[in-house]
Amino acid sequence: MRDFFIRHTPSCDKVTTMVSASLDAALPLHNRLAVRLHFLICVWCRRYLTQVRFLREAVREHPEKLENPDSPSSATLPPEARQRIGQTLRDHRQ
Ligand SMILES: [Zn+2]
Repeated sequence: MRDFFIRHTPSCDKVTTMVSASLDAALPLHNRLAVRLHFLICVWCRRYLTQVRFLREAVREHPEKLENPDSPSSATLPPEARQRIGQTLRDHRQ
């Protein structure tokens, strides 16, 4: 039975794309069914849906965190650290 679902449901890549799109607009019926079938066999995509819903809700409830200058997302590296990282990357390319 599991093999049947694996053969007849979209890949995880396609499902996660559809799950992301479903947060902005309703999916066509056949895509909703495909996602639901895929969820029966794939815990990873179910977790992906839970996580993107959580993130979306967190951003909705705390938009000020995105604009807070002390938030980790707005942190910058000191020039020495940038230079050291850049040099390390250049060394590994050679
Ligand atoms: Zn999956």
